[in-house]
Amino acid sequence: MRIAMVSEHASPLAALGDADAGGQNVHVAALAAGLVRRGHEVTVYTRRDGRTLPRRVGAPDGYEVVHVPAGPAKRMDKDDLLPHMTSFSRFLVNDWQDRRPDVVHSHFWMSGLASVLAARHSHIPVVHTYHALGTVKRRHQGARDTSPPDRIAVERLIGSDADVVLATCDDEVEELLVMGVRRQKITVVPCGVDTKLFAVDGPVRGRTAPHRIVSVGRLVPRKGFADLVGALPLVPDAELVIVGGPRDLRSDPEARRLRACAEAVGVADRVHLAGQVARSNMPALLRSADVVACVPWYEPFGIVPLEAMACGVPVVASAVGGLTDTVVHGVTGVLVPPRDRRSLGRALRTLLADPYRGLTYGIAGKDRVDARYTWEAIAARTELVYQRARASEELAVAP
Ligand code: UDP
Repeated sequence: MRIAMVSEHASPLAALGDADAGGQNVHVAALAAGLVRRGHEVTVYTRRDGRTLPRRVGAPDGYEVVHVPAGPAKRMDKDDLLPHMTSFSRFLVNDWQDRRPDVVHSHFWMSGLASVLAARHSHIPVVHTYHALGTVKRRHQGARDTSPPDRIAVERLIGSDADVVLATCDDEVEELLVMGVRRQKITVVPCGVDTKLFAVDGPVRGRTAPHRIVSVGRLVPRKGFADLVGALPLVPDAELVIVGGPRDLRSDPEARRLRACAEAVGVADRVHLAGQVARSNMPALLRSADVVACVPWYEPFGIVPLEAMACGVPVVASAVGGLTDTVVHGVTGVLVPPRDRRSLGRALRTLLADPYRGLTYGIAGKDRVDARYTWEAIAARTELVYQRARASEELAVAP
């Protein structure tokens, strides 16, 4: 198949850990590579956010990246990109006239909008993955939600126009049904993990305390790092390494907030903010942990728990979103209520006090990843979804 992937703000070639670069970038890159390995031709369309970026470039994994001129050629907050989706969509229409894709897979709501508009008159089937939902964000962030006000309405429109909606976890299915997306349109295909990079064996980063907790993610409040810092007084002899954010944290407001929080609860000497860590160094860092903690307030999917499990490390996670599918309570880790420092502290302390339990969770986590979450398996399942989308589009236009 000739597959067009549209990912307006999340380039598969971007550095990870910054405010707008995380799981979606990983997902698009790994899925594109997995589909290429299955013999498909994949082009990823992403916004041109730098003057020096070439119009078209071949990625080392065999897919092509097209940098779409839509808005200023500089990095912008994703909340400011909506006005540029008309030019993005127009570019797709033109590009697809010459090279018609068999299927379009859009990622995130603005890509979905550009894609359904571009594909509307050409009968190209559209598969959409939301990655995150405006309704959920609004519920959790209330007045602090900086998404454009039209987001939720546009997400409904995509749900009605797209041929197939791919949910990444069961929790998202419930949310989509409440939004009014038809059940027959929804299929669950989770994110995967690169099991060649994230593996049990390999180098391990050194540590400075008897126990180490590692937490990874974009340095934004909803990732729950402050709850971890707040729980640390309940977890003796443990250091906490927080990974993510810009490389230089000096002027980062969230880093400043976390440091102040650590000072306030008396654990400043046990909290290390590592800033952005290159993907290639992430496995050694995860392997150095006794436990990887992922405690967001909400999480559409969350790739980090899978990366930890692939490295054979137990996970303590908040029982939200995709984490309730990936982490099996009492088998591969422990699930705790979100934003509950006392439960979190207790779970971490109990697990660290019982290394045998940690070991068995780690082994079970690795097994679970191998059985369900390799990108090979996810690419194969996605391919079936594309075939279904093509068949339903053919039926729709049949005379
Ligand atoms: N990541 C990274 N370096 C960093 C911070 C994060 O490589 O400094 C990676 C992390 O290993 C994971 C992704 O970024 O692959 C974050 O994905 P996740 O789904 O957990 O969170 P999101 O950022 O999408 O909310």
